[in-house]
Amino acid sequence: MERKVEILGYVKGNGLKGTNLNPIQLIELAGRTCYKSYKRITDDSAGKFTETVLRTGHESVIEHSWLSLLITVSPENLLAILLDNNLFQVSQLNGQDNFLLSGNVRMFRDYFRKKNEIFKDRVIKSILFEMLIKNKIWAILFEDLTNLGHLVENYHSSSKTAFTIDFAPKEEIFKNNTDLQLKHWWVCVRFRGCSRAFTHQLVRHRLTAVSQESQRYCDESGFFDDDYFVIPTTVCDRRLIGWYEEKLREIDRWYKELQKLLRNAKEQNTKETNKAKVNEDARFLLPNAVCSEIVISCSLEEWRHIFKMRCAIHAQWEIRGAMIDLLVQFQKLFPGLFDNFVIAEDGESATLLV
Ligand SMILES: Cc1cc2nc3c(=O)[nH]c(=O)nc-3n(C[C@H](O)[C@H](O)[C@H](O)COP(=O)(O)OP(=O)(O)OC[C@H]3O[C@@H](n4cnc5c(N)ncnc54)[C@H](O)[C@@H]3O)c2cc1C
Repeated sequence: MERKVEILGYVKGNGLKGTNLNPIQLIELAGRTCYKSYKRITDDSAGKFTETVLRTGHESVIEHSWLSLLITVSPENLLAILLDNNLFQVSQLNGQDNFLLSGNVRMFRDYFRKKNEIFKDRVIKSILFEMLIKNKIWAILFEDLTNLGHLVENYHSSSKTAFTIDFAPKEEIFKNNTDLQLKHWWVCVRFRGCSRAFTHQLVRHRLTAVSQESQRYCDESGFFDDDYFVIPTTVCDRRLIGWYEEKLREIDRWYKELQKLLRNAKEQNTKETNKAKVNEDARFLLPNAVCSEIVISCSLEEWRHIFKMRCAIHAQWEIRGAMIDLLVQFQKLFPGLFDNFVIAEDGESATLLV
């Protein structure tokens, strides 16, 4: 299968760009990667999908979202915010009390859930929460938290606290400021036609949000006939390719056989025997060559780190190829931020000039 590396959306301060989707629809698209259930996407399915994800506790899916706020608070109150969630990206702007604070929705939810005893922070928390649940896009991601008493008890005290929150920091704030751009800009990327060996390397980057095709839920039978596998570059002459493909065809047959055996097995033949259970155990036979879709979201700072590690000549050829495809797109989309990665003449690696 041919490799396809696509930017699904990005944030440059003010709102989601590079897509017609709103942030909730992007969360749905990324989340459905796990089940490859894209056919279930309709004009109004994103809300229901998101509610289900939150109800069932799969909050990693809502990490495919990014919020940047321009806040004016005292350093003391900023510290209180960070004590409740130190995963936020924070930068100080001109003027002591102006800060950019960015993070994904899960970070904000975790922040809201913490019951900090520092009073002023709780007021800020309540006001921010109120703003989010009144926002027509973001509300659905926070409404279920309204039962947390500490979030709603302090709105009325807001007048006593000097702070402002701006939901839409303008692009000019970031102008000529590489540090701000790297920390607060964010990109969501989908990789298709890459192997499970590739995704297994990509998921090692811990400061990313990840949603990956589930081999428990997805039926991988027929991967051979569907050309849903990767041939390593070293398997290059016709005889070797023939041998390799013959083995994969055989494994595909074994996978189907095991599915059948598991379906028929007496002890499995209970209410619990369902598609997921069968696939979950049949997958033990699958090779790393089988393709696996994956969506990864993170800040530009982390993307830069990933490019540095994975475009280098020592990186494995498949991840190197995919990351160079992506680097080329980033260089066009974010002029000046990735220009010091120099792609080798053969196009097979890139080096970061320091
Ligand atoms: C050529 C190559 C060969 C490799 N071979 C192997 C191998 O044989 N076996 C193997 O297991 N892995 C291997 N890896 C994976 C590698 O060890 C890392 O897990 C992977 O590259 C993720 O990168 P990272 O750890 O720098 O940072 P990321 O997870 O991308 O994190 C980014 C940054 O966040 C910070 N950070 C995140 N989490 C922590 C933490 N818990 N503590 C402190 N700082 C943190 C660090 O500053 C880090 O630089 C290989 C990678 C490459 C590129």
